[in-house]
Amino acid sequence: MNAIPHLRAVETPVDERIYVTQPHLPPLSEFMPYLEEIWESKVLSNGGPFHQQLEKALCEYLGVEHLALFTNGTLALVTALQALRVTGEVITTPYSFVATAHSLLWNGIKPVFVDIDPRTLNLDPARIEAAITPQTTAIMPVHVYGHPCDVEAIQKIADNYNLKVIYDAAHAFGVQTKGQSVLKHGDLSILSFHATKVFNTFEGGAIVCPDAKTKQRIDHLKNFGFVNETTVVAAGINGKMSEINAAFGMLQLKHVDGAIARRKQIDTLYRSLLADVDGIRCLSGMGADDVPNHAYFPVLVEGGYGRSRDDLYQLLRDNEVFGRRYFYPLISEFPMYRGLPSAAPSNLPTASDASGKVLCLPMYPALTDHDVERIVRVIADGAQ
Ligand SMILES: *Cc1c(COP(=O)(O)O)cnc(C)c1O
Repeated sequence: MNAIPHLRAVETPVDERIYVTQPHLPPLSEFMPYLEEIWESKVLSNGGPFHQQLEKALCEYLGVEHLALFTNGTLALVTALQALRVTGEVITTPYSFVATAHSLLWNGIKPVFVDIDPRTLNLDPARIEAAITPQTTAIMPVHVYGHPCDVEAIQKIADNYNLKVIYDAAHAFGVQTKGQSVLKHGDLSILSFHATKVFNTFEGGAIVCPDAKTKQRIDHLKNFGFVNETTVVAAGINGKMSEINAAFGMLQLKHVDGAIARRKQIDTLYRSLLADVDGIRCLSGMGADDVPNHAYFPVLVEGGYGRSRDDLYQLLRDNEVFGRRYFYPLISEFPMYRGLPSAAPSNLPTASDASGKVLCLPMYPALTDHDVERIVRVIADGAQ
């Protein structure tokens, strides 16, 4: 009867897609003077002026003594283990991004997974001692979501057993605990400046270290092991941050306080709106006197919600909201790790439980209050 092709009804415009994060980018015009400076000097890498400026500026901003910039956080992790000559077995958490354990495999070290604390989802100090063997040389905990580990309990165990502590602090830019930077704990801390992180240089990372001698060794290791034009003292790697990344870091540093302040507002809004939704538990991993960075907004989807975490994840996707299941699967479930005795799910009940319940909701400075309200409405309407 009707030869006219089917015309779709005009729909009301859908809201835009909201991803879990969006990198903070200052106006391009603000970056141009930095680029002009690089073009003029023709120094592109090898510890040039922006590299030196950013190391100094970050030490001041973070309140740490020494810091070595890297091309990314993963190479910083790999190099940190080399700098301290870590071998044998290292105790670590399965509840992290896969690079944490990969840095051990790249050094021929055996990861030993230990379960996490149900309150913070960080490595549980009470379970570390039972995992120590004569081969154990170090502990590699992660400040997950930027929430500080129990640094004192971990240091006590390390001191008792003469173990090194290397923190994967990829999430912990600017975080303070007990009146000082969380990066001052342990032997070394590693930062990531990847595009998805609170402070980004597109790609980038750093090792924070307590003394000039260790920094010097790290600086040699990230430059092929060269100490001067003709002397190579170690099988180093090329881990140097380029001038363009370092220059961008200098610009980002001007904006980072504002970005964290906006994250804080979003965190507060989420918490107030989600307070009325049964079965959605907001994580609160910070101590009363700690200074957070609001890097992520993780929630745990519990029984009272009536819908599984994966169901909620899909429901949000159907509504153009793309959360992320950090951290699912656990590192210990990936094929190169699952054969280890410590990777058995029975050894990691708390991590397994959290991995099945967690969902990181969108969190970034450009997220509007309207966006947060829309996200929470989908979650609240989805409760069963
Ligand atoms: C991002 C991240 C890394 C890796 O950092 P890159 O800079 O991406 O190499 C390592 N560990 C954790 C916990 C991370 O979130």
